[in-house]
Amino acid sequence: MNFPFLKRSLGALLILCSPSAFALHIMLDPGHGGVDTGAVYGGAKEADLVLKVAQKLQTLLAKDEKFKVTMTRTNDRNLSLPERVKMAEGTKADLFVSLHANAASDQRAKGVEFFFQNNLPPDEDALFLASQENQMVLNSRELHDISGGDELSKKGDVAAIVEDLHRQNRLSSSLRLTQALTQVWGTDNNAAQATIKQAPFYVISKTTMPSVLIEIGFLTNPREAKKLVSAEYQNDLAQKIYTALQSYKEKMDNHTAKSLN
Ligand SMILES: [Zn+2]
Repeated sequence: MNFPFLKRSLGALLILCSPSAFALHIMLDPGHGGVDTGAVYGGAKEADLVLKVAQKLQTLLAKDEKFKVTMTRTNDRNLSLPERVKMAEGTKADLFVSLHANAASDQRAKGVEFFFQNNLPPDEDALFLASQENQMVLNSRELHDISGGDELSKKGDVAAIVEDLHRQNRLSSSLRLTQALTQVWGTDNNAAQATIKQAPFYVISKTTMPSVLIEIGFLTNPREAKKLVSAEYQNDLAQKIYTALQSYKEKMDNHTAKSLN
């Protein structure tokens, strides 16, 4: 069998089936909720903050016909991580965007962090953060399982190639979105420092669509916490993420158009 040819043909087929030329369906996932408050420092509660930013972002996306938006939660309620993934899969969302706020033992830690899953070994800080955000639902063995490895050899060749292409596509799209996000943050001199990281967060490891987890700032940093609770700053965060999503959508549409020519 001619594998490179088969791989190219299947790749073209995947692009043809790509929904990017249509409205991009985004599953917005405000982290935590209900009994799980997430990080709490001073008057700031992670579950509330990320819900507010998500709602503002939802409003922007809902007004734009290029997007379709669904939320994993719209109020302060309990929602497990597997339920969030199930919702994203069930609605066949094109993109999964999870919002969280950070906490660190060092009060000086600051900035926005964008996480995606790329199967490379994550650094220790990122692993620790992932274990916090994963609400300890996973033991270390499971964390290891979702952070790498696959079983291509056990599957049929075609199935393995399709899966490989799908994973490559998911990975490059997730990376493209994180790059669009850092670009938007980079154009604002007053914006918090933005970094791309990777860690085996449950929600971005288990979803099969491109996915990104955004840590919107550090609640443990007094200056950042003060900004995070203000509606103005929340609007700014929502607007920045929206601008990055617009740029991502445009790039994906151009990419699809070029691939078909
Ligand atoms: Zn969180």
